Amino acid sequence: MAKKVGDWYNYSGAIHMHTTESDGTKSLEEVAEIGQKCGLDFMLFTDHMTLELRKSGKEGFYGKTLVLIGYEHNDPDDKNHFLIFESPQVYPEEMLVKEYVSAAVSDKSINFLAHPDEIRKTLIEYPPYPWTDWSVEGFTGIELWNHMSEWMEKLTRYNKLLMTFSPRKSMVGPTARILKKWDELNLKRKVVGIAGVDAHAFPVKAGPFTVEIFPYKVHFRALRSHVILPHPLSEELEQAKWQIYDALRDCRVFLSNMRWGEADSFEFYGIQGSSRVVCGGSLESADNAKLQIKLPEKALIKLIHNGNTVLTADTDNLEYSVKEKGIYRVEAWKGSRGWIFSNHIRIGIS
Ligand SMILES: [Zn+2]
Ligand SMILES: [Zn+2]
Repeated sequence: MAKKVGDWYNYSGAIHMHTTESDGTKSLEEVAEIGQKCGLDFMLFTDHMTLELRKSGKEGFYGKTLVLIGYEHNDPDDKNHFLIFESPQVYPEEMLVKEYVSAAVSDKSINFLAHPDEIRKTLIEYPPYPWTDWSVEGFTGIELWNHMSEWMEKLTRYNKLLMTFSPRKSMVGPTARILKKWDELNLKRKVVGIAGVDAHAFPVKAGPFTVEIFPYKVHFRALRSHVILPHPLSEELEQAKWQIYDALRDCRVFLSNMRWGEADSFEFYGIQGSSRVVCGGSLESADNAKLQIKLPEKALIKLIHNGNTVLTADTDNLEYSVKEKGIYRVEAWKGSRGWIFSNHIRIGIS
């Protein structure tokens, strides 16, 4: 549920999910109902290569949950999956990755590289679908953390049964590879990091059983993308939609795995004189700048500057005097489990 945190409003939602319009197993209405029950403030649907649900007017509020609809594009080799919202159309299937990324960018859509760092090779029946062309430019963000991907990466013939029955337990966090790439991109420009659930609720054979892996509700109680808004979410669709999309574009976002605890009241500020910014925000210079971090409960905080950890502390409240300009972000860990990952605050750089 929405929460007032300091001067801001926190809304948490799920991004990247499939319905019976493509390879999901429930209808949008059914999935939206599950989302409402799990307390999602927003749900961003992304069926493969179709915008039929958007065309038939299915965007809107379902109870208090805002449902928005984009789609997931892939290239002719089924790589380079790309989540696109607010595009005028589904781009042609034969387009190469450079072509659909640049079409989506010039159409001013909101778009994300999906599960970019999949490399799994343990089970031949689940090949990876990585991002292969890093020369593309102008995209909005990347899916740093994808529930389905992380689960699949860890899957082997031997742990399949265990993993299937407790699909949230094995979650650690975004890979070091993708975090490094993301930090590098952000040194040049803002690129938002989001969490994707990639919900399908596939039936999978595990030993003698056929189990629905990841019922939607399991996903919705795990990875969340939180957006930070200056005003409460409008009750009017068009306005509410752009409040969410603008926050994503602006990197006013942090991610959490709620399996390890409620993260709604996480706070991360950059403070300089009378200005106080949240993630996605910028301070003009490092002079007398401070960073302030507050967690809902104690955890291991890592403060990361330009990709390097500059401070770790086991606490729920931290203040740091900024010494150098650059991009700063926060991770919070509970033991070996990644709990909260913020986007960057930019200090002294554009
Ligand atoms: Zn995909
Ligand atoms: Zn997907």
